[in-house]
Amino acid sequence: MEINEIITKIEAGERLGLPEARKIYEHGDFHQLGHLAHKARVERHPEPFVSYVVDRNINYSNICVCGCRFCAFFRPPGHPEAYVLSREILFSKIEETLSLGGTQILMQGGHHPDLPLSFYEEMLHAIKSKFSIHIHAFSPPEIVHFSKLEGTDISTVIARLRRAGLDSIPGGGAEILVDAVRRRVSPNKCSKGEWLDVMEEAHRQGLRTTATMMFGHEEEPEDRLEHLLALRDLQDRTGGFTAFIPWAFQPANTGIQRSPETAVSYLRLLALSRIMLDNFQNIQASWVTMGPKVAQLALHFGANDFGSTMIEENVVAAAGVHFRLSIQEIRRIIQAAGFEPRQRTMDYKLVATVDSIST
Ligand code: SF4
Repeated sequence: MEINEIITKIEAGERLGLPEARKIYEHGDFHQLGHLAHKARVERHPEPFVSYVVDRNINYSNICVCGCRFCAFFRPPGHPEAYVLSREILFSKIEETLSLGGTQILMQGGHHPDLPLSFYEEMLHAIKSKFSIHIHAFSPPEIVHFSKLEGTDISTVIARLRRAGLDSIPGGGAEILVDAVRRRVSPNKCSKGEWLDVMEEAHRQGLRTTATMMFGHEEEPEDRLEHLLALRDLQDRTGGFTAFIPWAFQPANTGIQRSPETAVSYLRLLALSRIMLDNFQNIQASWVTMGPKVAQLALHFGANDFGSTMIEENVVAAAGVHFRLSIQEIRRIIQAAGFEPRQRTMDYKLVATVDSIST
């Protein structure tokens, strides 16, 4: 199919298959891709809002035995910088999040070799008995790891965590959902099938989740497309994903040496995501990896959400990338891009904030 025919198909709201997606991704004009993605975004979100969530990334532990080559965050057991957060520190981080108007915490850790499932259940219980806050926690690789350590199935692990207070699951650890790539960059982490199984089971149990893609390491362009198609298929079955968040690999301090993705490469992938993921309501810009200026442009390349204020972020920072934005700066950037900033919850319900009323 020629590019013009693919464009006509997109404009008619028809779904792209792999060969068409590959063609427009690799050969489509940059501005044309952005235009098509923005049009799809505006059709889905005619209101002039760009949303953001006020939350904090809390890494309850950095101890991990997985050894992913792209990871600068983890420390092996016994390393002088290895930690598991105490309750006292965990609670003080949550108190500060709430005092800043936060509505949720994102909690993720490594693959700790010893902590039993009851440790995580008790942590959730302790948080929920003290605070009224949404807990978005434990990416699929962590859940698969818990299930293997505990010798129980994924469905039981999710049900137990849910009973203990888990509200939703972050889409981390997807990297690229192609097993050949996963075997190269993270050989000890869960497979594509396991990642998708966790999400499908979570959706079945009524938990909403997000989906991510970390690209720009050792994958081919076609692997990115396969990843998008796998997410689209699952979303067709469950409708449980709230958002898709692509972000670019940051190579510093990792075992993979290559140049970081460019702004154009990121924006092309983002635009393609909006076009291909016709069953995803929300696409997030990633200011944490691409910086505020590229993230602002992303709002015209298919993204309708600015992601999290990230009161705290450790994983990308470990790879030497230190973008920091206050809530006021995020709101100013969104306004300067021509949209009205609106705070939201994990499931994209708008929050009436003092700021949103006064600006
Ligand atoms: S990405 Fe996660 S699982 Fe992999 S080494 Fe880092 S902390 Fe461990």
